[in-house]
Amino acid sequence: MPLPIVAIIGRPNVGKSTLVNRLAGDQQAIVHDEPGITRDRTYRPAFWQDRDFQVVDTGGLVFDDDTEFLPLIREQAMAALTEANAAIFVVDGQSGPTAGDQEIADWLRSQSVPVLLAVNKCESVEQGIIQASQFWELGLGEPYPISAIHGNGTGDLLDQLITYLPLSGEVPENDEIKVAIVGRPNVGKSSLLNAFTGQQRAIVSPISGTTRDTIDTIIERNGQHYRLIDTAGIRRKKNVEYGAEFFGINRAFKAIRRSDVVLFVVDALDGITDQDLKLAGRIIDEGRATILVVNKWDAVEKDSYTIYEYQKILGSRLYFMDWAEMIFVSALTGQRVEKILDLVDQAAESHRRRVSTAVINEVIQEAVSWHTPPTSRQGKQGKIYYGTQVKSQPPTITLFVNDPQRFNENYRRYIEHQFRQQLGFKGTPIRLIWRGKS
Ligand code: GDP
Ligand code: GDP
Repeated sequence: MPLPIVAIIGRPNVGKSTLVNRLAGDQQAIVHDEPGITRDRTYRPAFWQDRDFQVVDTGGLVFDDDTEFLPLIREQAMAALTEANAAIFVVDGQSGPTAGDQEIADWLRSQSVPVLLAVNKCESVEQGIIQASQFWELGLGEPYPISAIHGNGTGDLLDQLITYLPLSGEVPENDEIKVAIVGRPNVGKSSLLNAFTGQQRAIVSPISGTTRDTIDTIIERNGQHYRLIDTAGIRRKKNVEYGAEFFGINRAFKAIRRSDVVLFVVDALDGITDQDLKLAGRIIDEGRATILVVNKWDAVEKDSYTIYEYQKILGSRLYFMDWAEMIFVSALTGQRVEKILDLVDQAAESHRRRVSTAVINEVIQEAVSWHTPPTSRQGKQGKIYYGTQVKSQPPTITLFVNDPQRFNENYRRYIEHQFRQQLGFKGTPIRLIWRGKS
């Protein structure tokens, strides 16, 4: 069972790291057992009374003028907060509330995570109460005066904190990969589903989903659970009130939205049709990991070059999805069907992946040294200050630049290409957000 997570948030220099050190003592950072992955944040185990949890420091970013980079600090915090059970917002009691604190507080209030307000650097008890009281104006409830250095007040803070944490055992382990099987009618979606359930242990087959028109099947392989979201079944229930389009494309759209990985099934005999392109567009818009499953491979007459010719033709039609792996299968004979699940594992991993800020900036520096950003006619050159991954599923990287308009499509593609080349991301779309100073 994963431990509950507490995010430590605040402007630079308010004492976040000092507080993390106090809470975690000399316990080492948790190294997540995900090969090849460096996390954006370090997780330190901590406990209070009989409760274990982990703290994640969202700091580490110090700029001369921190208000200028508030959006960046906020995005880092946002990424940490999405997985946190509670947050401690640290402010500096000696400097009093700042505009930056207010801005972070306003944002925190709009989040659903419970927040505790820790007013740090309050060494003296009487002074501390006065210093802390200035922070009621942030609208986050009672300010707790603490001294992260000396430990004063942290007991009261932690007593309150643990009431917000789920008892361990309540945090669900979300290890299921949600896989949508989508494609035009008759490409072989149901046959593929049958091939999966025939080859793998089907745990519940089929179970009713939350909505009337959802039929999910869960299969297990090597301890990994896959929830297969089938979009074919309903078409068979004769439905006179709705046109085929409704249950075709709209059901596919719904399934895509619920999934982590899309199995985009096409018919080898038909190639990529306009309807396929429409589905592909939606998959991209939703930012899902994707595997292009070319079905009915048994029915294709082939020699040793055929597969390369197909790869070339299908790839050029779907050039905007060139990051997706392509696999040639037969749902009918079962050929390579199990291999699809290997690709699903890989794509799901890429989709969830978090890359450390340090590594991202290394890639940027390397990319910029090979190929400097374009210069405008006025002689102004584009500059990338900093990049950080703000989200996963799909991996989303914000690039802080002097002026986004100085980076043309070509250069943006080049940078994306560099991220892919250096960092992998097989099977998943990645998003780059070009942000100017604001
Ligand atoms: P972060 O940038 O928010 O992680 O802040 P740090 O933990 O690096 O602390 C910034 C500065 O504040 C350092 O010089 C610390 O020594 C100081 N500091 C941290 N906690 C306290 C405290 O409880 N009392 C006082 N007086 N100074 C503190
Ligand atoms: P769906 O509408 O996408 O669910 O497609 P079905 O699974 O119902 O398959 C449509 C038709 O294609 C059926 O007649 C299947 O027997 C056939 N079919 C499905 N998969 C394959 C395959 O791998 N090879 C061949 N030759 N036919 C297939």
